Amino acid sequence: MDKVSEDRLKDCHPVLQQKVRAAAAACAKEDVYLRVNSGLRTYAEQDALFFACHHPDGTLDKTKPWKTNARGGFSNHNFGMAVDVCPSLHGCDSPFAPCWDDNHKAFKTMVREMKAQGLAWGGEWTKPDNDHFQLADVEVTPTAENRTLYAKGGIQAVWASYQGDMQTSRPGVVEA
Ligand SMILES: [Zn+2]
Repeated sequence: MDKVSEDRLKDCHPVLQQKVRAAAAACAKEDVYLRVNSGLRTYAEQDALFFACHHPDGTLDKTKPWKTNARGGFSNHNFGMAVDVCPSLHGCDSPFAPCWDDNHKAFKTMVREMKAQGLAWGGEWTKPDNDHFQLADVEVTPTAENRTLYAKGGIQAVWASYQGDMQTSRPGVVEA
């Protein structure tokens, strides 16, 4: 992957890093190059995304492009356990040409290889989030326990509670 992607990936959980790199390597063999658009987000960054598409009272603002349903602390991005990724049609280390079309061959290749790594795909959720992938062996939506651990000991405390292993695959997880 390109340096921009690596810079965004490096703050994510090591298991997620390994899975995304493995998927990217498999894709590159088919001339499909992945770009990580977003990895770890602070609660404040998550809230900014939320209120970019919601009214101050928390209801959806349908006049704005949809970004997220999750406030700070309620997205796996806040715990380094989710990434937003899409193929770049101009190749690795070339000008970024995002492909957002989930019917495009490159996009389908990305989804196949990310799922082959056991990652859960947001495109299969009730409200599809096509470029979103997360560890499949954590709760689809972070729990109160995650937020409590984070408040006490930061992201390391959340990661210390992670029970997943490299072989775990739980495909077909749907949004709660
Ligand atoms: Zn996402």
